[in-house]
Order: sequence, then C-alpha cells, then structure tokens
Amino acid sequence: MTKIAFIGLGNMGGPMAANLIKAGHQVTVFDLVAAAMQDRVAEGAAAADSAVAAIADADAVVTMLPAGVHVADLYLGESGLLAHAKADTLFLDCSTIDAETACRVGQAASDIGLEMLDAPVSGGVKAAAAGTLAFMCGGSAAGFARAEKVLADMGKKIFHAGDHGAGQIAKMCNNMLLAVHMIGTAEALQLGVKNGLDPQVLSEIMKNSSGDNWSLQNYNPYPGVMPEAPASNDYHPGFMAQLMLKDLGLAMENSLKTQSAVPMGALARSLYASFAGKGNGPRDFSAIIELFQE
Ligand code: NAD
Repeated sequence: MTKIAFIGLGNMGGPMAANLIKAGHQVTVFDLVAAAMQDRVAEGAAAADSAVAAIADADAVVTMLPAGVHVADLYLGESGLLAHAKADTLFLDCSTIDAETACRVGQAASDIGLEMLDAPVSGGVKAAAAGTLAFMCGGSAAGFARAEKVLADMGKKIFHAGDHGAGQIAKMCNNMLLAVHMIGTAEALQLGVKNGLDPQVLSEIMKNSSGDNWSLQNYNPYPGVMPEAPASNDYHPGFMAQLMLKDLGLAMENSLKTQSAVPMGALARSLYASFAGKGNGPRDFSAIIELFQE
C-alpha cells in the first residue's frame, strides 16, 4: 500500500482515483470543487482542505488538471506543491499540457532532488473507469521505474517516451491524430446516412474494412450506435470539445516552433474552433458530427 495524493477529480481524475482506492492504496484527494471529492470519500479516500495539505504525507502525488497554466500554478512558487513536498515524494502529472511547461516543472522538481514525470493518458473516460489507460511518460529512467508501480493500477500500457516533456509530445501527436480520425469518421457516417444507410450497419462494415479506427471501435459519434458512447448520452463528456481544441492548439504552436507541416491538424483545429465557438465547448468532442448535419 502506498500513500497517494490525487489532485483534480474531473471526468478523468475521478475514475482514476477510484482505481487507486480499489487497488488498496491510502488515497487523499483534493479538488477546487468540493462536490468532485464526494464519491471518492464514500469509497474510502480522505478529503484534504488544500492541495498542499493533501500531499503532506504522500509517497506519490498524481495531478489531473485541465491545462499547463493550472499545472504551473499548482506546482511552482512559494505556495506550490514542490516547495511543500517531503523528500522522496514522486510526482506524476497526468494532465495534457504543453511540453514547455512540463519541462519547466519537471526541471524545477529535479533541481530540488524530486522525481517528477509528465504522464499524460489516452483512452478516455471509459478506459479511466476500466483501469485500462495508456500512459506516455517523460522523465528519468529511475523516476519511470517508480512510476510504473503506481500507474499500473490505473492503466494497462505504460510507455517511457524520453526525458521531461517527451510524454507530452507523444500525447500531442496522438490527440492531433484522434481529432483527424474522429472528424473523418463523423463525415463518413453522415455521408452514408444521407444516402440512406443505417449508421449501425455502416459502422459495422467500416469496423471490418480499411476505414477501421479507434473512434469507430470505441467512441462512435453517431447517436444510438454505441449505447455507452457520449453520442448516445446527449454528448455528455467524455472529453470536452474545448479540451480537444486546447490539444490541437498545442500541436499548432509546436508545428510553428518546429516548422512542421500539419495540414490535417490545422483543419481539425479550425473545425473544433468553429464548433466550440458556437457554445459547444463543454460538450463531448464527438458532437463535431453536428457540423455535417447542419
Ligand atoms: P475536467 O475539467 O473534467 O477535470 C479537471 C478537474 O481539475 C476539475 O474537477 C477541476 O475542478 C480540477 N482543478 C483545476 N484546477 C485545480 C487545482 N488547482 N487544484 C485542484 N483541482 C483543480 O477535465 P478532464 O476531462 O478530467 O481532463 C483532465 C486532463 O486530462 C486534461 O488535460 C485533458 O486534456 C486530459 N484528458 C482528458 C481525457 C478525456 O477523455 N476527458 C482523455 C485524455 C486526457
């Protein structure tokens, strides 16, 4: 049993923390929204009054926050987590953020002798609940060896991508591809439906043909095809469109810096910007299919 502090109990952090409790760890939780902690407390976690209080006695700290600005604010500075950590605490930031912030915070941890990894995840809320997430880690080999033991209780595939920030680069590439194949899946399904096909039948055909992809297999954007997908639950997230837009923004900024051509990613960003700009930001990202239904 490990003493673990879990900070950020939203759509992803909530079920991830639940799996750590289920695995028998002694978990202390904190979220700015007190109601987000209730379910975990009912399952046996302790609730802390602040993030700093949550980590006081922790062997490992997992954070799952929206964006880089939240991570930098939480970790750095005199009131930040790093300034209040006991020696030997392992920090795992599972948020999807820019690689620069991940490097800056990871280096700040290294500077005071603490291990920290960027460890963003893939798989969505379904995999978070099932404990089958993929983790892509950036940090030292020694830190990764320690992290694997904690991450194994929340995921099935755990990768070491390289040094600080490398996990975030892998995640950025993955999510740009996810946006592209979600949009492609949505427009293909809608084209078939406009031609009179049943979306269920068309999905089954494409899943067994060369158009098969993760969105079709796990996250069908057409309502009613996959009962457990957000599309069949009024596009309740899931993964908010505004978070996908954030991730595409990270890819675009990086493509400028590295002078990389990302025409499909750029188009995906534009479509998600237009979609989120119409008030759809808090809805699930698979609702992008509505752009083709207008
Ligand atoms: P979310 O908005 O549902 O949850 C974020 C939580 O962090 C909220 O409960 C919020 O109150 C809390 N929070 C913010 N700042 C805090 C602070 N300083 N201290 C304590 N709590 C704080 O977001 P989510 O969907 O859980 O996503 C979290 C991260 O995981 C994002 O970076 C996202 O891009 C990434 N991600 C999401 C999915 C998905 O399917 N939802 C999949 C993979 C990765």
